[in-house]
Amino acid sequence: EPYIAHPLSVAAILADLRLDLESIVTGLLHDTVEDTYVTLEDVRREFGDTVALLVDGVTKISQIKFRNSVEKQGENIRKMIVSMGKDVRVVLVKLADRLHNMRTIDFISNQEKKKRIALETLELYAPLSERIGMQQIKTELQDICFGILNPDIRESIVQRFKSIELESGQNKLIPQIINELQKTLEVQGLKAEVSGRKKTPYSTWMKMKQKNISIEQLSDIIAFRVIVNNVENCYRALGIIHTTYKMIPDTFQDFISTPKNNGYQSLHTVVIGPLLQKVEIQIRTYKMHD
Ligand code: MN
Repeated sequence: EPYIAHPLSVAAILADLRLDLESIVTGLLHDTVEDTYVTLEDVRREFGDTVALLVDGVTKISQIKFRNSVEKQGENIRKMIVSMGKDVRVVLVKLADRLHNMRTIDFISNQEKKKRIALETLELYAPLSERIGMQQIKTELQDICFGILNPDIRESIVQRFKSIELESGQNKLIPQIINELQKTLEVQGLKAEVSGRKKTPYSTWMKMKQKNISIEQLSDIIAFRVIVNNVENCYRALGIIHTTYKMIPDTFQDFISTPKNNGYQSLHTVVIGPLLQKVEIQIRTYKMHD
């Protein structure tokens, strides 16, 4: 592919995130100073101080030498945050850059190099995306890395998903369960927006490790989200759900009263829900969701 394909894709990712003009221009130019004869001064003259500052920030992040080890992860993230100076757009462009690199990583034939990049991405860029609230990027990065670092485990989880789908038809039940949940809440006078999704292999694997469950014990592959207009209604929705469906012990988590350190807030619970399916439910307000 021509070299321009990569910066164009990075700019497109940034445009999809609805970032501003300067971020998108930086996406187009992010590799120029590092990979071509163009200097930072050239960029400044043609595109102005802000774009020059952003391109310089992205270039500097690329030059930091990261050590791959779990203990150093925090230190690496701090380094990156310091290096981005006072403009978060530097990190957003860098994340879009890494996301596109990971989407195209199969073009790297050297397996060692692939694994090294995947490990760095999993230990550094995925937590960083989570830290600044880019949930979708985090999820995609984690799942690509999982496939490179633990292809066998990922494959066995994917196969288990398939057999659960066949046995219980869980994925086909998503619209039916959404409907049931919505009705259950509505009957109690609570207006809520309900959506459903399939879980990713990586998040499932993390949960298996955390809860020490085997692949045979794995039974839930779908998760639901209930969005309401205020905090009070989050707890009302929880009350309605827990009195209607049987709750699985030790699954309830209140991230509204104790938010995660990236500011994430929601109530999490797992119940034997509509159609007797074990389902995970997250409850939050529109504001928390945004
Ligand atoms: Mn790049």
